[in-house]
Order: sequence, then structure tokens, then C-alpha cells
Amino acid sequence: MQRLRRGRRGLRLSRGPQRRVLLIAPPNSYRTFAYLDAGRRHGIDVVVASEGEHALVAALAGGLHLDLQAPDALERLLALNARTPFQGVVATDDQTVELASRVAAALGLPHNPPAAALCSRRKDLARARLAAAGLPVPDWRLLRLDRPLGPQLEGLSYPLVVKPVSLSGSRGVIRADHPEALREAIERVRRLLAGERQLPAVEREQLLLESFVPGPELAVEGLLTDGRLEVLAVFDKPDPLEGPFFEETYYITPSRHPAEMLERVERRIAAACAAYGLREGPVHAELRLHAGDAWIMEVASRTIGGYCGRLLRFEAGHGLEALVLRHAVRDPLPLVPPTGAAGVLMIPIPGAGILRRVEGILAAQREPGVEEVVISVREGYALVPLPEGASYLGFIFARADEPAAAERALRRAHRHLRVVLAPNIPLSLATG
Ligand code: ADP
Repeated sequence: MQRLRRGRRGLRLSRGPQRRVLLIAPPNSYRTFAYLDAGRRHGIDVVVASEGEHALVAALAGGLHLDLQAPDALERLLALNARTPFQGVVATDDQTVELASRVAAALGLPHNPPAAALCSRRKDLARARLAAAGLPVPDWRLLRLDRPLGPQLEGLSYPLVVKPVSLSGSRGVIRADHPEALREAIERVRRLLAGERQLPAVEREQLLLESFVPGPELAVEGLLTDGRLEVLAVFDKPDPLEGPFFEETYYITPSRHPAEMLERVERRIAAACAAYGLREGPVHAELRLHAGDAWIMEVASRTIGGYCGRLLRFEAGHGLEALVLRHAVRDPLPLVPPTGAAGVLMIPIPGAGILRRVEGILAAQREPGVEEVVISVREGYALVPLPEGASYLGFIFARADEPAAAERALRRAHRHLRVVLAPNIPLSLATG
């Protein structure tokens, strides 16, 4: 075991036998590098299991290539453990939370029950559990796309939100204010799902319809230990999210909502975790404040999306991923909330097209308070906006004494950016 020792220059880690964490990541995960980096800094050997030859970053010599959907994935990971035993298992993204929970359960390590992990990525199952637990949830119903829609759409009231049962990052989430818009939204999501061949049929053939919950939105990062929730950070989303699509943009921490409301938020998330059966590891929750209560939009059993985890810095140089890794190997954690304010802007994708260049990055970077501007796609990449798109254009990170100042810095920085796109001409036209 490594121990924290208080030295003259603060907390230091003394080395003990090497600890090892199995990190299960889809090939396109934004978080793999952050976990590897955190492992290196904090003396934890991170072994990545992922798909495809190109899944693993160059920094990684070891690791296991495996088909995450294959029936023998669990068996192969257990065989890997027999050679190099793990003290913890972490999933980077929604797609891998169930497999991670099954591996950890088989190894007798702290884990979420697989049914709870499934619930944390299946919006229909989650709604049913929340409703059964008496938590505030919008009216909802499941649509079967392989059956006639007419009878299934009777007796609805508007506005509504249409969403796939298992995608993330707001993909396929569309607001509809009247029956015609609803039909269009359903067809659009049907086309999107038809291209998601990796999904099981049950996730491609069903859609969730929910009543639209108005109100400001919050995001919360937390950590569960034996079913007890510790809130690590609360983010406000200062731009109203009214639809028809729900692009993530500004996340600012700490929250400026009143303390009583934030206590309610925490209670609602803890109750949602209990309703799903979640007990261990990171949770990322999104809620709306409406009618004096906190309404769960989702609770995922992983950390915040994209590179946003970079924003959080805890005591003794711990980033979010370092906390998650150390928690997974049951190290005592320095759980002191981050100080000061910080914000991230997930840079909006201005339209569909091929990325030519992003102008104004230096000017954005020079804005006081701005820490970093990261463009996460390369020139030549086809940008696809919501509701179909799945990737981030980039991120701006800012730090300040007050949340309002962090938000202002991000807004000023964003005004400098100009995203230059070329039309994405279909090949048949270009060659014809
Ligand atoms: P994802 O997991 O893809 O992010 P969510 O179900 O969390 O999907 O929805 C994404 C966003 O869409 C939410 O953060 C919220 O802004 C909006 N949204 C989803 N459902 C509703 C709803 N019933 N009422 C209002 N807004 C919603």
C-alpha cells in the first residue's frame, strides 16, 4: 500500500508494492489518456483493455485488445487478471460500465451490480426505477419503432422530448412542440439509430418520449463508496437549454444556486443512485431545477464527458481521474473540495462541414483567466452537429476567484474563435 505522509512540502506519497487498475475503455474514449496520466503521477499501474489496434495511445506499451461485445470478453479479462492481478476496475465511458462491473464482481473487488450499471446507461430502465422510488420524473412512455406509431402516439401533451434509450452526449435528444415536429423527430432518431449497428436490437428499436421539464440545469460529479455519495463538484449550466437540440456548452463551478437547493440536489442524486442500485465509483448526474425540486435527467456511473475532468483540481495535485483510480484501489482519499472557481466551454459546433481551421486561438488563450484552449479534432475532419454528431470540437478552460468571472472569461475567449468549415460534398456528387 502507498501511504500519504505529511512532509514539509505538504502531502507526499511513499512507494509500496505497485497497485494495478484495469481500465476498460471504448476505442474513441476522451478519458483514456487522463487516466493513464493520473496513474503515472500517482504510482498506479493502469492497464487498458480496449478495442482495435489504434485504440491505445502511444504512451501505452501493454494493455489488451479485445472486442468489448464479444461473449468471451469477461473470460479474457479474468485470464489477464490471473497473470497481472488488479486491485480495482474502472470504466471510462457508458459503453463499458457493465463489463467493468462484471469483471470487478468476479474478482471480488468493489463494484456496482451489473443491473445497476445497465440502469445508469439505459434511460428507459432508469426512468422506471426513479418513478418506482417516488422521485420527481417527467411523464414518459416507450415507443416501439417496429410497430405502427399511430396508436402509440395517442393522448400526448406537448412539449415533449424524444430520445434514444442508450446514447449519450445529447445525441438524438430532440424537443417537439407539436405532433408534426414529433413525427419528424422520431424519423430523425430512427435514421440515427439505424446506423448504430453496435447497439443491441432492444436499444435500436425503442425510443423514449418524455414531457419537457423546464428550468435551469446543473451537473454534479460525485464518488460512491459502499453506497454513500460524496459530491466532488457542482456545475451550473448558465445558458438556457430549451431545445430543439441540447448542446452542452458552459459548465461553471461552484454552483451559484442557493445552498438549500444544492442540498436537495445531493439528496436526489443519492436517492437516484440507491434506486438504480449504484454503490461504487464515479457518478455524473444532470438535473433540472423545476417546481421547487431537483429533477434527475440522468445519473451515469462514470466521470464527466470529454476533457472536462481537467477542470477539477483537488488537494495535493489530484485531478478527477486520480481520485477515481485511488478510490478504486481503496487508498485513503484527500477529499477536500476544489478551491476557487472554474469553467469549461465545450466549443459549439457551428454547422456541418469539413473543418478547415479554427482562427483566433491565440487571442482566446490570452484572455485573462483562460487556462487552455484545446481543439480536439484535426483539420479535414467532418464535423457533425447535434442531434446526430458524437464528437467535441474542443474545449476552453478558465479559472477565476468567482464563478461569474470564470464564465465571463470563457465568453470573451469564445468570441475570438472563428471555425472555418468547407462544405462536406458527398462523394457521388464530387466525382459525378
Ligand atoms: P444524454 O445522456 O445523451 O446526455 P439526456 O437524457 O441526459 O441524454 O438528455 C440530454 C439533455 O437533453 C439534458 O441534459 C437536458 O438538457 C435535455 N433533456 C433531456 N430530457 C429532457 C426533458 N425531459 N426535459 C427537458 N430537457 C431534457
